[in-house]
Amino acid sequence: MSGNKFTDTFRHKGLRKKLTETVRQKGISDENVLRAMEAVPRHWFFDSGFLEFAYEDKAFPIAAGQTISQPFTVAFQTQLLQVKKGDKILEVGTGSGYQASILYQMGAKVFSVERQRALYSKAKEMLPAAGYLIKTFFGDGYKGLPAFAPFDKIIVTAGAPYIPDALKEQLKPGGILVIPVDDDDYQIMTSVKRNADGSFETMQHGRFRFVPLLGDKAHD
Ligand code: SAM
Repeated sequence: MSGNKFTDTFRHKGLRKKLTETVRQKGISDENVLRAMEAVPRHWFFDSGFLEFAYEDKAFPIAAGQTISQPFTVAFQTQLLQVKKGDKILEVGTGSGYQASILYQMGAKVFSVERQRALYSKAKEMLPAAGYLIKTFFGDGYKGLPAFAPFDKIIVTAGAPYIPDALKEQLKPGGILVIPVDDDDYQIMTSVKRNADGSFETMQHGRFRFVPLLGDKAHD
């Protein structure tokens, strides 16, 4: 990676401060989330064609027909996770690596799985070069990562047709899963808490729009 790729100027920092304020005004109140958003240079995760838009509160295309999520959505999902320093977190859908880096910045141990080979390969190289020591995996997130389970938190960053049992089962007692679940042409942001007695509590948090969680026909 060239040094240029990881420059972070006063202009970038200013744009990030503004973006963080926008996200705050839209309802994010967890100061740890806002601090992480102000710290992580979102432009590092962009393809060059869209660089000038890196600090807009919008989703943008990345490789393989996928997207880097809208900052508000990243903040909203992260807030629902109630991240604590030292949490062991599984992310399904590495994509650009931005969401995983926000979690890492908050002091979590992050495991992230991606179903598209090109995105996995890029993130595996880029994240450590940028200083984000995230464990990346190529695989099908529907299955979670049983070899590394259980997790304190699990976040899914693509729209799922249903809540996979494998993910619920890989939560520790007291753990939280945040997943957008399909409902016609949008998704309902859903959180699932695993109680100490093994039962699950599900809550819904409004409509969002995500690219779909890919099944068996994804590209290897
Ligand atoms: N978290 C990403 C970021 O910060 O850039 C945004 C992710 S994008 C909205 C959704 C990602 O989920 C895509 O990269 C897509 O390839 C990935 N994905 C889709 N189905 C998957 C599956 N079954 N397992 C793992 N990743 C999957």
